[in-house]
Amino acid sequence: MIRTRRAKIIATVGPASAAPFMLRKLFNAGVDTFRLNFSHGDHATHAAVLRAIRALEAEVGVPIGILQDLQGPKIRLGRLPGGARPVDRHERVTFVQADRSEDPALLPLPHPEIFAAIAPGHRLFIDDGRVRLRVVSVGERIEAEVTEGGMLSNRKGVNLPDTVLDLPVLTEKDRADLAFGLAEGVDWVALSFVQRAADLDEILRLIDGRAGLVSKIEKPSALEEIDAIAARSDAVMIARGDLGVEIPPEDVPARQKEIIALCRNLGRPVIVATQMLESMTSAPAPTRAEASDVATAIYDGADAVMLSAESATGAYPAEAVEVMDRIIRRTEGHGAYARTIAATRSHAEGTALSIADSGAVLACAIGARCLVAYSMSGATAQRVAARRPALPLIVLTRDARVSRRMALVWGARSVLESAALDYDSMVSMAREESARLIGPEPGDSFVILAGVPFGQSGSTNNIRVATYR
Ligand code: PEP
Repeated sequence: MIRTRRAKIIATVGPASAAPFMLRKLFNAGVDTFRLNFSHGDHATHAAVLRAIRALEAEVGVPIGILQDLQGPKIRLGRLPGGARPVDRHERVTFVQADRSEDPALLPLPHPEIFAAIAPGHRLFIDDGRVRLRVVSVGERIEAEVTEGGMLSNRKGVNLPDTVLDLPVLTEKDRADLAFGLAEGVDWVALSFVQRAADLDEILRLIDGRAGLVSKIEKPSALEEIDAIAARSDAVMIARGDLGVEIPPEDVPARQKEIIALCRNLGRPVIVATQMLESMTSAPAPTRAEASDVATAIYDGADAVMLSAESATGAYPAEAVEVMDRIIRRTEGHGAYARTIAATRSHAEGTALSIADSGAVLACAIGARCLVAYSMSGATAQRVAARRPALPLIVLTRDARVSRRMALVWGARSVLESAALDYDSMVSMAREESARLIGPEPGDSFVILAGVPFGQSGSTNNIRVATYR
């Protein structure tokens, strides 16, 4: 099966989609990469899904990406007496360091790091920002005034947009989940609640090149170090769920545009996530605004758009994928798309990116049928994809993990090979494989980009124009 769509679709797997027949249905509807959300589910459940995806991949003969999303240090309220209580605007409340509270006047917050870092004036949001408070004083306890009232209940999520917490970015659960994921051969690992570039040190060491690292951008502090975070990551996710709680929702669209532009410039795949087709959790068609939101991410030049609850727990998982596929294809087919992508393409910086750019420009200028990136590590392919060339981009690699990672890279269609012994046999292989995919006429040309000698990461240094016979 050959998909001609350039942007990729990621679907989160959950109870609505975990059965093998549903995974197949979602793949057929357009999913390129499946996301396993480790905030939910146990290892046995995830292992069954992982194996079903690999079996599906073998059946369809197309590399399928698997993204493991680690829960990270999610901050939650403890357990309240009676399980819930309302709070009113202007009410003063008291938080205590505890897992549970028997006293209705005291709200349990089992995170000592908060008490160490929070300061008067900081905001504290509960339940996706439905309930909002401002800190008045901090000591053994935190006193706060409610600025937006509502219902509090056990284990509701807490967001602290003004506070940088001294939290280990990997919890014990994350470490165990990561070891499990790497042993199962996931292709990408997403790290939640990254606050600074230094947060990536440990996970990069633990992953040790066995998977790509996706940094989830959902904290205001991460926005302040976004250049360094993106540069050290293999990909970036704009996690608009938490981000849109921690920064005002009216700021999210501009941040989305800035992060996508930055990632395109650096050659890092970028994912736009959360609430893209939210209403499809319970309706068979999206709202007009949702269709427009998906299209905007595509016009911005995102590599991938993601479904969360829509595919994990919604009533219409396959329909949501079909709708996303149709919106992407319709947007990419519209004249404004090529103009917008060209207008937002930055000047290529650095030797490798400039060579990738020149190859893409050359291929268009000579009317080549396609670009082939011969890529051992995926880096050359990502650099070419970052230029968003209008031509088909075929990625030839001998590493199955790289071919699967390409399943979230814009425009990349990967083919696994193991027969290229030297440069000339690589060119023959590129000719044969690309001809199979695009059906050229004899005499048509194509352009190959590679790093020579093969296998040295970081080098895209070779452009070759070749013809079909
Ligand atoms: C988000 O917050 O947008 C997100 C993708 O993260 P999670 O679903 O893990 O909260």
